[in-house]
Amino acid sequence: MKGFLIFIFLIHLTFAKSQTDSISLAQKDSTAESIPQITEDNSNKADRIQFPEEGMSKIPKVYPVFNMYDYWEDDHMNPYRFMTLPRNTRVRIKILPEDCDFSLPIDAPTTSPFGYRWGRPHNGIDLDLETGDSVCAALDGVVRLSRWYYGFGNLIVIRHFNGLETCYAHLSKRALKSGDIVNAGQFIGKGGSTGHSTGSHLHFEVHFLGKPINPERIIDFKNAALKVSHLELKSSFFKSYYK
Ligand SMILES: [Zn+2]
Repeated sequence: MKGFLIFIFLIHLTFAKSQTDSISLAQKDSTAESIPQITEDNSNKADRIQFPEEGMSKIPKVYPVFNMYDYWEDDHMNPYRFMTLPRNTRVRIKILPEDCDFSLPIDAPTTSPFGYRWGRPHNGIDLDLETGDSVCAALDGVVRLSRWYYGFGNLIVIRHFNGLETCYAHLSKRALKSGDIVNAGQFIGKGGSTGHSTGSHLHFEVHFLGKPINPERIIDFKNAALKVSHLELKSSFFKSYYK
């Protein structure tokens, strides 16, 4: 009898231990999920975009960096506005994933840098242009938003395969709509001065999860080249005013 009780006790111990293991694993998983992760996806680009059957929805079933964040809105510049990045966020992204290219949005001098301007945040960089000049996509991706958007006037936002989004504001004409697949260097619209703008220029922003980062961290606008092959994103890059 005593032997039998010890046997039951041992079984109980084993069961309790396996339960503890599964709880700690679940906790580990939920911590991992709270920090955005980007995998360096080397699969074929065509496999990374899928659209539902015609007429079902404008939202792609699978879109760039679908594995990292499942937000896709075609009417709001920042669909991640309800999401707070953890303080210890550190994400390393490869600027050009497999078979992706880069292009300047427009080969023109920069006229206003990223940062504070007249005491207010300037979340992008301004590039000089004449109304009607061609504006191109900086990287391959899918157009998420294409609409008139408050002070930005005619705005296009493109989601890229590296997890970044680029925004093109004050356009006089938008040539693409939400859901359109776009390649780096492809014509997306004409420059202009729509919305809150004092003269024709391209206001160009680079976002990660809706948070603006300085485009000059990545792009050498003078030499029409990428400055870095990888970018380590830390929460300190992001302005606290822009949740
Ligand atoms: Zn600007």
